[in-house]
Amino acid sequence: MTLDTTVSVDQEENPLESAAHRFEEAAAKLGLDDGVRKVLGTAAMELTVNFPVVLDDGRIEVFTGYRVQHSIARGPAKGGVRFAPDVSLDEVRALAAWMTWKCAVVNIPFGGGKGGVICNPQILSDGELERITRRYTAEILEFIGPERDVPAPDMGTNEQTMAWIMDTYSMHKRHTVTAVVTGKPLDLGGSRGRSEATGRGCLIVTNQALARFGMRPESTRVVIQGFGNVGGMAARLMAKAGYKVISIIEYDTAVYNSDGLDIETLAAYRTQTGSIAGFPLAQEVDRHEALFLDCEVLLPAAKENVITSANASRVKARILCEGANGPTTFGADSILQDKGVFVIPDILANAGGVTVSYFEWVQDRQGYFWNEKLVNDRLEEIMVDSFNDVTGYAAKHAVNNRTAAYMLALDRVAFAIKLRGLYA
Ligand code: NAD
Repeated sequence: MTLDTTVSVDQEENPLESAAHRFEEAAAKLGLDDGVRKVLGTAAMELTVNFPVVLDDGRIEVFTGYRVQHSIARGPAKGGVRFAPDVSLDEVRALAAWMTWKCAVVNIPFGGGKGGVICNPQILSDGELERITRRYTAEILEFIGPERDVPAPDMGTNEQTMAWIMDTYSMHKRHTVTAVVTGKPLDLGGSRGRSEATGRGCLIVTNQALARFGMRPESTRVVIQGFGNVGGMAARLMAKAGYKVISIIEYDTAVYNSDGLDIETLAAYRTQTGSIAGFPLAQEVDRHEALFLDCEVLLPAAKENVITSANASRVKARILCEGANGPTTFGADSILQDKGVFVIPDILANAGGVTVSYFEWVQDRQGYFWNEKLVNDRLEEIMVDSFNDVTGYAAKHAVNNRTAAYMLALDRVAFAIKLRGLYA
């Protein structure tokens, strides 16, 4: 792989290109040993499985699934399972590498993994989804486990999916193994605070950025894209902490109130109507333009490739907190840097989720469950330490926060590899 700086927006939007570009940049700046660079530039294990499932109408369909373990140098692979029609091996590879870097940034003892099944959960019944999940689990069974590889929910999967994976794995092992997956229901070994963790992590790192610039939540306007698990929770917690959340952007529209939206009422309205459209306590604005509203904090928490080289110059926010994975393409990085936008990169900003997943795994293995305050206090400690590690590294090496996060992560994983002598 070489570092090519002449790229098209299409290339920018390919997750594997994006992951490779940032990896190469950080590796070059670190002067990473060529052997270690080869180890970290390649996934350690890639599994493709084609498996049959009987659909509700009696037909047999063959589904394709993947599980990729990018690195297990620092501990078991950790990463979600995605159910979507456009899942590809390239995408799963990129996401697995991202997990390695994310776990290293927050310094938890996991490597990186990811999985996926090509299917459309929106048109499948619960029974079909259960059969797909169980058969996929049976196919990858030998490669997962509390000490090997610990899946979690991702797009198209949820705590019910994790309960099915846990049950299938346990049936084969002939005893209950809760620690094989995280993101489980609370009654099956899930952790308190897990569903809020990613949004809470975004709030914690944004608070740190504000403190750095002498800003106060009451005079900080926030625009959030995505009102789901991450964005919805971040909006709730930020509003509670005094921030003015002036706009929420969804896939169908965006709502705006210059005095700050009433987030609890908006959430109740969305639950009732299925959309934020027509919310009476706000004005509807163009959802594409809302990203470029005057604000102090922009928090994309929906999808990848939202800020690209084609629109980065229009971002007005002082702070970009990346709740989603990959919302900014590598082509946009230098534009944001030149504008002086303080970027809290995804592998730090949204790492609250995997951090509490780690807590879940620890609690399952201990068989002793923590109260919510303990979970939140420990999450806060890890997010604050990680924020300081990344910004300290950026200052020391005169690089931006994203490059610093990658350099810090690569450095930690490379150090583990050297200590272990994996490549000797
Ligand atoms: P989610 O499905 O709960 O929420 C996503 C929200 O975004 C939904 O409300 C959806 O309607 C909205 N949306 C979809 N397309 C949109 C568009 N084009 N414009 C505006 N809004 C749009 O998903 P989530 O769990 O909140 O995940 C969001 C992002 O955060 C993803 O990139 C995910 O990989 C990342 N992430 C999630 C977690 C987690 O713990 N859930 C952890 C780390 C990273």
